[in-house]
Amino acid sequence: MLENDLELTESEMHLYSRQILLDGWDIDAQEKLKLANILIVGCGGIGCTTAELLARAGVGKITLIDADTIEISNLQRQIAYTQQDVGFYKSEMLAKRLQQINPFIQVESHIHQLDELNAQSLIAQQDLVLDGCDNFTTRYLVNQVCTQFNVPLISASAIGFQGQLFMVEGNSACYECLFPKEQHINESFRCADSGVLATTPNVMASLQAHHALLYLGLAQTPLKQKLLLWDGLTMKQRILAFEKEIDCANCQASSTAKAD
Ligand SMILES: [Zn+2]
Repeated sequence: MLENDLELTESEMHLYSRQILLDGWDIDAQEKLKLANILIVGCGGIGCTTAELLARAGVGKITLIDADTIEISNLQRQIAYTQQDVGFYKSEMLAKRLQQINPFIQVESHIHQLDELNAQSLIAQQDLVLDGCDNFTTRYLVNQVCTQFNVPLISASAIGFQGQLFMVEGNSACYECLFPKEQHINESFRCADSGVLATTPNVMASLQAHHALLYLGLAQTPLKQKLLLWDGLTMKQRILAFEKEIDCANCQASSTAKAD
């Protein structure tokens, strides 16, 4: 990238002025955002809100992946989409919206599931991955490839009135340490099966995007190896520390690979 590209233009300074004015967030932090490459896995209730907030905030390159088309029943909570979008691909419609919101950023969209074939090439070069997908198979794969390439991961989920959020970074415990695969791989937590209040995924997406800004702009990791639980009935939030699991197949595999 050319040196000039790193600096914010006058138009960008104007667009982000309320953020740059903020105590504890300066031009330096804003330029770090501009340089950041992130991948958003899933463009549903969590992904579409996270993507929009980070596009508005000024994350320089956003890659979206989702294989689904927009359905009427998505509109209750997936705030990027309208009645006119039904039947179109989520990742494409979301990319178009992000580009309309912020013409200064780059957006790339993929109409696929994240799978064994594309995961490495999509994840390896990212500065941060944000997972908001709707199934355990993809979550384990994202976790595995992020660990393999040492790419930080912020994972958010929402179902019913409940939400969860945590970060995997560096040598921290991973998703599989927290949720051992054999116990969860056959479970489903899709909203299609269980129901979700309109606000729940949007609360979790806002927290996920917020954490992404803290990390990308200020190198802060408040939820590294910590699980944030949000209860939408009592409005209570709890943060629990969790430990690296000695028997975690994913962490063991990655330390073996590094030793080799
Ligand atoms: Zn692990």
